[in-house]
Amino acid sequence: MNNIGTSPTNFIYQIIKNDLTSGKYVSIRTRFPPEPNGYLHIGHAKSICLNFGIAQMYHGKCNLRIDDTNPLKENIKYVDSIKHDVQWLGFHWSGVVHYSSDYFNQLYDYAIELINKGLAYVDQLSPDEIRRYRGTLTCPGKNSPYRSRSIEDNVTLFSKMRHGKFSEGQACLRAKIDMASPFMVMRDPVLYRIKFAEHHQTGTQWCIYPMYDFAHCIVDALEGITHSLCTLEFQDNRQLYDWILDNITINVHPQQYEFSRLNLKYTVISKRKLNLLVKHSIVESWDDPRMPTISGLRRRGYTAASIREFCSRIGVTKQHNNVDISVLEACIREELNENALRAMAVINPVRAVIVSLPIGYEKIIDMLNHPNKPEMGMRQVMFSREIYIDFNDFLEAGHSQYKRLVLGKEVRLRHAYIIKAESIEKDEIGNVKTIFCSHDPNTLNQHPIDGRKIKGVIHWVSVSHNMEAEFRLYDRLFKEANPTAEEKFFSTINPQSLVIKQGFVEEGVVEVLASKANTSFQFEREGYFCADNYCYNSSRLVFNRTVSLRDTQGIKKVDI
Ligand code: ATP
Ligand code: MG
Repeated sequence: MNNIGTSPTNFIYQIIKNDLTSGKYVSIRTRFPPEPNGYLHIGHAKSICLNFGIAQMYHGKCNLRIDDTNPLKENIKYVDSIKHDVQWLGFHWSGVVHYSSDYFNQLYDYAIELINKGLAYVDQLSPDEIRRYRGTLTCPGKNSPYRSRSIEDNVTLFSKMRHGKFSEGQACLRAKIDMASPFMVMRDPVLYRIKFAEHHQTGTQWCIYPMYDFAHCIVDALEGITHSLCTLEFQDNRQLYDWILDNITINVHPQQYEFSRLNLKYTVISKRKLNLLVKHSIVESWDDPRMPTISGLRRRGYTAASIREFCSRIGVTKQHNNVDISVLEACIREELNENALRAMAVINPVRAVIVSLPIGYEKIIDMLNHPNKPEMGMRQVMFSREIYIDFNDFLEAGHSQYKRLVLGKEVRLRHAYIIKAESIEKDEIGNVKTIFCSHDPNTLNQHPIDGRKIKGVIHWVSVSHNMEAEFRLYDRLFKEANPTAEEKFFSTINPQSLVIKQGFVEEGVVEVLASKANTSFQFEREGYFCADNYCYNSSRLVFNRTVSLRDTQGIKKVDI
């Protein structure tokens, strides 16, 4: 893989390099630990590229660990999608897929060890009381009245918890640390809670489940993780991470390092919020091409390499960031500019008849599949007397800036003739129905012999040789750059985030799709599109616009 999505200059890379050169470690092991409560998104891609990329760069190993300690929110379908997305991004985990639930027995034993050391107790305050007793940032917390229970009582009570003798919320296991700690996470954090929920891996074996903070550090240590990389909101939790490992019998102590989360403008990156979009039918599904999920981006036409390239460009720091979506778009645009086959598609069709050509006139025109890459081959496109051009490429009365077809003026048909709009026919409500044109017979893919300059070039599709197609044009999902505030969330959805058009493509596109060699095209002057994977094998052609041709709106200049 030529691009592993991580930059060799980021600070974590430096730390690992030092640890290897100093001999602190001979080999490194990282992990990517998603919770299976939703599909992976572009933020996860950053973490995947970092963890797997670093392991790859240093000939280390990276585990995929499904962090499944909360059965109520988790689902096996998410586990499957996570595995698929990581592989699709081009990464390979070390050995089998790990689950935090693989370690439930060991975690339980470590909890008992903490109880036996007088470092954990069964609390019977209600969840509300626990919150109230915790205090605030400016006010220390209060000890629970159950904090001073004997070790024997705690052992018995914890065993009762495990055997379903308490109901949910009636008891929990807490670490005995310091209710006045400046770190809120150290104020006797809950280690285990009761949940009578069936787990996708362990079924009904357990009715108590460990909290993230308790499980994560221990599982990291059990898996021999050397560098545990997480996002900045876990900075304070590092105190607890270290406290737990320092107080149990385990001979490995991974080091946690934090980096900033990726945020992208005009979208939301949080499984919870993405789930809301799906639930409220604002998008079709988790893999709706407007979603910043890996599956949404894939369906939109993003490649794994373009996502890795994006992760490499944004880098890894501790700075809060809100990256412009244009950075992501640039990555796929650059790749498709190099690799996508060119074809013509008319998205807003209007019929043009070249009356100076004989009725039934057809002509095969050879076109390069890529203007700068003859090695990508040629294709034959049928030109005919009747063609579709784009409605937006015609004006009855033009102006000096308008370089397309104007009544009484000439324009170049891409790879074909120079035509002149002679007259139009309108329907009963005044829309242009047909444009009648003449052509200059000496200009088939050639400059006019009299040397006159024709500035505009427009694309076309033959009326008799085409395929009908649906074009889905996507825009940003939100009108506001930072739709994070809950109250703004629904009110700032962009109603134009999906516009559907019915038009036509060159018929040869179907053969390319059938050969499965390629699903992405540059439809000349319109943008980069890919065949929608749900419609791929059906007779109905649907194209998703991956990205427009350029960042700013405008007409891209093309050659003849
Ligand atoms: P979400 O808020 O979307 O649920 P999360 O952090 O709760 O995110 P996890 O499934 O727990 O999601 O994340 C797995 C890994 O991916 C974690 O190590 C987490 O730090 C990392 N990660 C999640 N979101 C981002 C992001 N936006 N940028 C970078 N890393 C992220
Ligand atoms: Mg989460």
